[in-house]
Amino acid sequence: MHNGDMRILVDMDGVLADFNRALYEAWEKEYPRESLDVPETRIKSMLHEEPQEKRQRIRKLYHAPGFYRSLTPIKGGIEAVREMAKRGHGVFICSSPVTNTYCISEKIEWVMEYLGDEFVRRTVITKDKTLVKGDILIDDWPDVTGAAVPEWEHVVFDQPYNKHITDKRRITWDTYIEVLAL
Ligand SMILES: [Mg+2]
Repeated sequence: MHNGDMRILVDMDGVLADFNRALYEAWEKEYPRESLDVPETRIKSMLHEEPQEKRQRIRKLYHAPGFYRSLTPIKGGIEAVREMAKRGHGVFICSSPVTNTYCISEKIEWVMEYLGDEFVRRTVITKDKTLVKGDILIDDWPDVTGAAVPEWEHVVFDQPYNKHITDKRRITWDTYIEVLAL
């Protein structure tokens, strides 16, 4: 592999867009007297480790209209996408939507706002990332699975809830150039 010839797929939630922060803020607004374990919330909710009733309330918050549009960028992510592209790599945004009416269009609007039209045209919204071809998938989800054996190497974007993954390369937006030898 030479510099500048990789296809790099970049996840959105938890990598470019701060899902947990928005969820926490929405929770605080809705349930100010009840605590939420911020760093682990999403994963606990999705892995069904929270009680059923609380899980439903969490789920409702991130299925609300406007939620995905309101996410703030994770520090360094937007710059990193541009930097990788500048270095000649084929950078694509690769994101899984939740199943509601708003999520997909809001994700596209988000990419338009922060990365512009050039990257809207390079955005893949899919429930199954294993079907997308690439050399690297940068994703915070611990175990990205689907119908196919993926072509890409899953590089874990460091988050508190994926610290237990030690058999994959891990990056932050401070270390990615060095770790990925870009
Ligand atoms: Mg993610």
